[in-house]
Amino acid sequence: MPPPVLRFAPSSNGFLHLGHAFSALMNFESAQRRKGRFLLRIEDIDATRCRPEFETAIYQDLAWLGVSWEMPVRRQSEHLADYRAALDRLAMLGVLYPSFESRAEIAALVKAREVDGAWPRDPDGVPLYPGTAKSLAATERERRLRSGAPFALRLDMEAACRLAGRLTWIERGSGPDGETGEVLARPEVWGDVILARKDIPTSYHLSVVIDDALQGITDVMRGQDLFGSTAVHRLLQKILDLPQPVYNHHDLIRDSDGKKLSKSSEAIGLGELRTRGMTPREVRSFVGLP
Ligand code: GLU
Repeated sequence: MPPPVLRFAPSSNGFLHLGHAFSALMNFESAQRRKGRFLLRIEDIDATRCRPEFETAIYQDLAWLGVSWEMPVRRQSEHLADYRAALDRLAMLGVLYPSFESRAEIAALVKAREVDGAWPRDPDGVPLYPGTAKSLAATERERRLRSGAPFALRLDMEAACRLAGRLTWIERGSGPDGETGEVLARPEVWGDVILARKDIPTSYHLSVVIDDALQGITDVMRGQDLFGSTAVHRLLQKILDLPQPVYNHHDLIRDSDGKKLSKSSEAIGLGELRTRGMTPREVRSFVGLP
């Protein structure tokens, strides 16, 4: 049996917090225990929010925790051609289309739809795409693309699901409702997700799937907040003919109010905790590791 390959894949759009420390340590130590490989990937596709100083801090914080990784580190911003090739393939399969509405236009469309009752939302609570760009005539689509208008490339969820058929994944951890073992993937609950934008030519869903495949990841271990996204990942893996890793979604580290730690909730960064005198041993004990 080839050795398992695990990875930690932070976005360099903020400082790592205790939740990241838990995930990185779980992956690193699982790879060590199983005589596998541990890779680090920097998810830096969003040039407007990712910054080199955050990336530097990621390396410092992980080293401080005692985590080491194989070189070179894969930085997503250096591999846009890989994502482009996947988008071309999806376009050829007829499951990709551009939409042209701005965020404000989408919000207005949702509001108009809600006059007749609630409009469906995805598992993150975001309204599904309400637009009609999928049925734009090819000539009109071309005209708008040529005009240089901003656009988002969306997955035609209905067509993609038809192409993929029934999808499952093997869950070695658990979902928020205790789902484990063979889990049925229901990507349709996400609607026509965005896979790329004019200004950011890929997306989390697309690049994570391509990179996990290109890096030969056998075990994806990550926070339970990404459990729902796995359905979209399985769908993309299936239609792009990519191997299927085993998934292990772990518990989230929460603050004293029970809210998950996140960069947006301004969870304290590991560097700041270090300055305040916290030791790696105390980090381990805080996140429940021996
Ligand atoms: N880059 C993602 C994050 O920082 C994690 C991606 C993954 O583990 O699949 O939340």
